[in-house]
Amino acid sequence: MIAAQHHLFENDRRLVLEEAIELTVQSLQAYGPTHEHWGIAYSGGKDSSATLTLIMWLIETGRVAKPKTLSVFYADTRMELLPLAIAADLILAKLRTMGIAVHVVRAPMDKRFLVYILGRGVPPPNNNTLRWCTRQIKIDPMQAALEHELDGIDGQILMITGVRQGESAVRDRRIEMSCGKDGAECGQGWYQKVLPEATGLRGRLATLAPILHWRVCHVWDWLNFYAPNAQYGGWATRTIAAAYGGDEAEEINARTGCVGCPLAQKDNALDAIVAQPDWAYLAPLKGIRPIYRHLREPANRLRKPGREALKGGGFSKNPQRMGPLTFAARLDALDHILAIQGACNEAAIRLGRPLVDMLNSEEEARIRELITAKTWPERWDGTEPIGDAVLDTVYRDGSVQPQLFSAEDL
Ligand code: SF4
Repeated sequence: MIAAQHHLFENDRRLVLEEAIELTVQSLQAYGPTHEHWGIAYSGGKDSSATLTLIMWLIETGRVAKPKTLSVFYADTRMELLPLAIAADLILAKLRTMGIAVHVVRAPMDKRFLVYILGRGVPPPNNNTLRWCTRQIKIDPMQAALEHELDGIDGQILMITGVRQGESAVRDRRIEMSCGKDGAECGQGWYQKVLPEATGLRGRLATLAPILHWRVCHVWDWLNFYAPNAQYGGWATRTIAAAYGGDEAEEINARTGCVGCPLAQKDNALDAIVAQPDWAYLAPLKGIRPIYRHLREPANRLRKPGREALKGGGFSKNPQRMGPLTFAARLDALDHILAIQGACNEAAIRLGRPLVDMLNSEEEARIRELITAKTWPERWDGTEPIGDAVLDTVYRDGSVQPQLFSAEDL
């Protein structure tokens, strides 16, 4: 009886996935033929992996007509979780053997996540005030690669993304393009919304989200049972589902992408990865998020002493704002991150497992070079006080409340 019920459940689930795929096919058939050139924005996360492998299968089996050109753009942030990065490499390698043009896009050296933080001194991003990372390490490099691609072709590119909102949201027309909501991937809404509006791409880029209506269980089923099967292409997608905690993760807010993402509430993906015996040696990476948190503390940063005059006249709205990271904090964090990477890699060598490559020697050298050159972000020069120094309070209108106690009294 239980087996029969289970079978029924499996059948239902398969049917639901097949219906979802059918809608995907319809959207591709409706919008695909009007564009000769397609691009797929691939982040290595679950939704874009499902989209990419599904489209390849649909094209291979003739259910969707192959466009004149098809290019895959993979945003390599250098901060990807290792099993996801390996799965992405395997998928990209397979695409190349199929004759698909693959572009791996990366931020230029000084804009990479760790170089920007530790070399230039910009604090790690957070949800409130400073959300620079997605644009800088994912969207801008993607935009540059697309502009380059467009130079070589006539007409528009249809950019296919893995944006997913789930069935009910689509039905209710509650299309919310933010990232990291209801299990959406970091960057996905931006790909859909920001890319087509970007100056160099305006009018030449259309976006399509063919799995917009998929629920997360469809994604798991596709990645776990369908895509890895030779009949559906034999893709290396099982690792990706496992990295998110698999089926059990359901619609959790899995902002999977960067190791220790400072914007995620919890390290869900990393926890799911290190819980697997093969990846347990990556446990030291759990130390990365606390480093980002520590760096944001006032003692590790500079602060404007008072009102800040703006170039075009007037003053900044935020007097005495907290700013960049001190050199001591940057060097200390660099040592800690290298030690964490070193601990993972010692174990990796011992166990014959893949190495972590979050910070290579070139990036480390560049960080040290920028620190030696006393590099600060714009509008800072290093003469500002440390963030936890006791200062008179300066208000927006320029009035000053002198401190009630001197530093010695405290
Ligand atoms: S995963 Fe986190 S750290 Fe990485 S780009 Fe997205 S929000 Fe930023």
